[in-house]
Amino acid sequence: MGRRKRKRKVILRPRKTLPKIFTCPHCGAQLVTVKKVENGYLVICGSCGIRHEFEERPGWMPVDYYNAFVDLYLEGKVAPPQRQDAPQTAEGEEERGGDEAV
Ligand SMILES: [Zn+2]
Repeated sequence: MGRRKRKRKVILRPRKTLPKIFTCPHCGAQLVTVKKVENGYLVICGSCGIRHEFEERPGWMPVDYYNAFVDLYLEGKVAPPQRQDAPQTAEGEEERGGDEAV
């Protein structure tokens, strides 16, 4: 006769707060945040305004988006707003100001 012994292992994991604020590769300010947006994650610097939106990738943490962001920056694929002279049309994101249709 077997006696089932149910041993439950309780593992207490200290909840570490993951870093969500990073250093900007462009201006060096510690103001880069990773935000969850509708279609993924937005990495944006609160100082110079450099930003990039990523698609959501399974298993990625904010730091991973930040690292990808830095890579893109180093490759010259991300530039801060004042340096972007070529108009970039963001898909699905339209911002209109001053046009009041009321
Ligand atoms: Zn910056």
